[in-house]
Amino acid sequence: MPESFTPRQALQRARHDPQPLDANDWRGVIGAFTNGAFTDAQMAAWLMARVLHGISVDEAVALTDAMLHSGTQLTHKDSAAPVVDKHSTGGVADTTTLIVAPLVASVGLVMAKLSGGSLGHTGGTLDKLAAIPGFRTDLDADTFLAQTRQIGVAIAAATRELVPADRLLYALRDHIELVDDTALIAASIMSKKLATGATHLVLDVKLGQASILGDDSETRALAQLCVAIGKAHGRHVTAVLSDMNQPLGPAIGNALEVRAAIDVLAGRTFGRLGELSLKLAAELLHQTGVPFDTAHQQVSDALHSGAAIDRFAQLVVAQGGDVTVVTDPTVVLGLGEPVAVWAPSQAGTVTAIDTRRLGVLARELAGADMNLRAGLTTNLTLGMASDTVAVALYTDNPAQVAHATAVLDAAVEIADVPVQEPPLIQTVIR
Ligand code: URA
Repeated sequence: MPESFTPRQALQRARHDPQPLDANDWRGVIGAFTNGAFTDAQMAAWLMARVLHGISVDEAVALTDAMLHSGTQLTHKDSAAPVVDKHSTGGVADTTTLIVAPLVASVGLVMAKLSGGSLGHTGGTLDKLAAIPGFRTDLDADTFLAQTRQIGVAIAAATRELVPADRLLYALRDHIELVDDTALIAASIMSKKLATGATHLVLDVKLGQASILGDDSETRALAQLCVAIGKAHGRHVTAVLSDMNQPLGPAIGNALEVRAAIDVLAGRTFGRLGELSLKLAAELLHQTGVPFDTAHQQVSDALHSGAAIDRFAQLVVAQGGDVTVVTDPTVVLGLGEPVAVWAPSQAGTVTAIDTRRLGVLARELAGADMNLRAGLTTNLTLGMASDTVAVALYTDNPAQVAHATAVLDAAVEIADVPVQEPPLIQTVIR
């Protein structure tokens, strides 16, 4: 913290000075907040004042840097291969991490992935992995780094020492209705990504109905800001803006999504989930100097040859999971038959899907004790004929079926007009 820093002066300035603050100012305030010298009330007032003045790109870079330095950072000094990471702003039926991580490792990159649990209507990688019997995600830093060196891939829970400022700030933002500020989201995402030490990063930024911001132009601005922050920190960053107006894959729910990922890795299914996974993996390989088309061919070959699923099996073994999940996911994940199958009663075309609501429904089906085997499988896509739609419901609580039926009746809009399926990938910011 700068010697001259006092909470009162910082607050006066935050309120009255519309000029952008410099990196020292941001570091002073974030440092003071993290060590308790700036109280929650002071930080809330300070942050709101700066948001109302508008946070510039340079300030977002400075804020990210200040957050990054609030805790420890991982380093991969002795890594023989480029260390990569991926981040999704949160999708529904989106289990790309479980495909991309072993896939990029199988083409020679190192995926060092620190993940979180579910956030809002979107699933979290840690909850999905918890559905694999025995799979541990509570790796300490040494174990995590050693595993990335041995098999090129590790997926673990972010520790409390990594970017502690983010946890504190996020809770505060939640209290004062600042969770949806673009600069604060970008700094929150990027500080955590930079702290994992990856030099190459692909961001899957969701557009459309179930995206975090809900507004496509703000989402594009978020993607651009994240890329700018990453570049200012000397990292390779690509943002892929992908469609989230419909579920990405065929399953929503933890164990169901693990099975969906294994089905893609095993070559049993592909679809939009497979297509996006290949794109994200190819962008990472491309960042390391491989021409994009060659990179795409290379990751596609690794998926189809079985190299990626072999690497997934190594990941499961390394982290203590039951590796027979790879060959027999339905049994090992404890997935029985669905309790019911919903279909629309009206004839026509699927014209809109409340995808966000489907994400919430999967959580409701899991109940208060978070049944990891609950959720739904669906073939829903925009523009499909309603008489081909089937949504299978998985829950321990059959009383939920009536609720799910009412939710689905409202969430899936059927009309007698043709609708084009939106393109999966809308823009790439390199
Ligand atoms: N994800 C994050 O990590 N932070 C945010 O602020 C929003 C989404």
